[in-house]
Amino acid sequence: MGSIEIFANISNLSITLISIFLLGIAVYVITRRKIIGKKGLWLLYSGLLLELLTTGVIYKINELYEQGVVTSLNILIFLELLLLLISMLLMAVAAAQILVNNVPEIPIVGTLGGIGLVSIFYFVFIYPDNNMVINMQQIFVITGFVCVTISFWSQSHRKHKSGYMMASILSALVTLILIARLTGHSIGLLNSWYVSALYYNFLAVALVLIYADHLFRKLDNVTSELDKYNHRLEEIIKSSPFPIIISRLSDDKIILANNNAIKLFGIDPTEVEHYRLKDFFADMENRTLLNERLEQEKEVQDFEILVKSYSGETPFWLLTSATIIDYNYDVVLYAAFQDITSRKNREVLLKNQATRDPLTSLYNRRYFEDEVNKRIVNARLTNGNYCILMTDVDLFKRVNDTYGHKTGDKVLIELASACERALRDNDIVARYGGEEFVIYLDDTTLEKAKKVAERLRETIAGLHIMSDDGRTVTFTISIGISSSKVSDNIDTLIKTADEALYKAKQNGRNRVEVFHPSELKNFNPDNSAMHKSEAANRHPVFDKEPAEEVSLLDGIESNHIVDDKNSIGKKTAEFTVPGVDVEDL
Ligand code: GH3
Ligand code: MG
Ligand code: MG
Repeated sequence: MGSIEIFANISNLSITLISIFLLGIAVYVITRRKIIGKKGLWLLYSGLLLELLTTGVIYKINELYEQGVVTSLNILIFLELLLLLISMLLMAVAAAQILVNNVPEIPIVGTLGGIGLVSIFYFVFIYPDNNMVINMQQIFVITGFVCVTISFWSQSHRKHKSGYMMASILSALVTLILIARLTGHSIGLLNSWYVSALYYNFLAVALVLIYADHLFRKLDNVTSELDKYNHRLEEIIKSSPFPIIISRLSDDKIILANNNAIKLFGIDPTEVEHYRLKDFFADMENRTLLNERLEQEKEVQDFEILVKSYSGETPFWLLTSATIIDYNYDVVLYAAFQDITSRKNREVLLKNQATRDPLTSLYNRRYFEDEVNKRIVNARLTNGNYCILMTDVDLFKRVNDTYGHKTGDKVLIELASACERALRDNDIVARYGGEEFVIYLDDTTLEKAKKVAERLRETIAGLHIMSDDGRTVTFTISIGISSSKVSDNIDTLIKTADEALYKAKQNGRNRVEVFHPSELKNFNPDNSAMHKSEAANRHPVFDKEPAEEVSLLDGIESNHIVDDKNSIGKKTAEFTVPGVDVEDL
């Protein structure tokens, strides 16, 4: 296609050779990626290379002829035409085999090769015609380029076709230039030597574009596969019997919620994307924990969350399985839920039954001991102080006797809630038995505990409770205190607190007494108040009815326990208290 001027000087030749070399690299890259058939492109490249070499041969023949070295040109012209014919056939086969789908190569090679060979023989040897020889040179190259143009064009129906179009238009332009040359028209500069170099370079660019188009097509395929996947996922989510929500990870916004989720969370179906997943969490700590687990593991199975509907009604429990997935070109959280509220309620009920006292709803003795044991272990590590308070309602039998058992129960319920109100969240109150409560004061010194106990005692003494028959009931409590300075053993702590309580009863009730560490050396747990109470199944101080004079709980005005120490003293004198002389009282 290029004129023989390519070979006229070294710079023309260098540029042309560099260009065809670059084209070779482009062909190599493209065929390695298997975008166009390997054989087809290499055949095309070989055809172009052979055509370029033949131009060189023609240049050499002309030179030799002009120098008079060669006189008989017939054989050389025959060889030259033969090379051009082969170059044409290579391009035609390349076009047929690879670029145009399913076009049979053998008939093409046979037909074109046959016609070409016969023509060459005829016009070189049988009826030598110089004009026809020159025309044949052009026609062979034109035919090759027409095939290539058609083949590239045949591929340009595809979606991304810029590369094929460019290659086809380039080849068509070269064909036009060659036809113009054949018909004796000059198209200015385009007749020059650099047509070849330009063609090689632009063809290389076109091949790169074909590669880019191929990538775009691949991307299209991936995109459509992804769309299909998203669509299928949507269908599955919509038809799921479980509530499912998909929320975007970047801004927590809900992208998709199926009907079950819409109903469960009270979402407005027309404005799903206005909600965020966090809107439905009733416990933010719970949410943080879920997020942390997801950050670490990308997937969480059977995670219990406390949620609320959008209108913020009573929270309810859900079991969720959540996974981070790709959906609609976003990274999202796929969360499926199962309502476990009734199961959770049952669990809470069972736990309460196991840990709480049914009358007062306070913790029971077992829970108290387990929990305090844990606290003691922690306090040991931090060298913390703590205290144990034992409380007992004074002359409670009288309340029952005077106002009835039901009112007695009411007194215990009110006493429990008054204790809870008066204490901090990290303290623990439990019903130890009967009308005896035990309190653990966390991080509290003995001095502080005494103040707390006094305040509690006063609060209780000031309570007014209405009996079933409309009378006002008042009552008092006695409190015994033991502290971490005495022991870090729960049994000893309770027994020593009980011993102090015993002392409070002895000393007149409605008072606070402390078990001091110094008393430990004379303290015999087996002879303690509790031991004695357990042995007799009741506290010895309870063995006798209080004296009639004790005005406690007799009516509205009996707001305080009897101040009359003598009356208590008289009564206490009847108790068998070791080491206490009746006369002393
Ligand atoms: P003291 O000041 O010496 O403690 O006198 P007390 O009358 O409180 O004596 P005691 O501890 O022996 O009596 C406890 C009474 O508490 C006996 C029992 O009938 C009553 N009691 C125990 N549990 C309950 C309960 O759940 N409800 C009611 N109403 N009474 C209870
Ligand atoms: Mg009592
Ligand atoms: Mg008692």
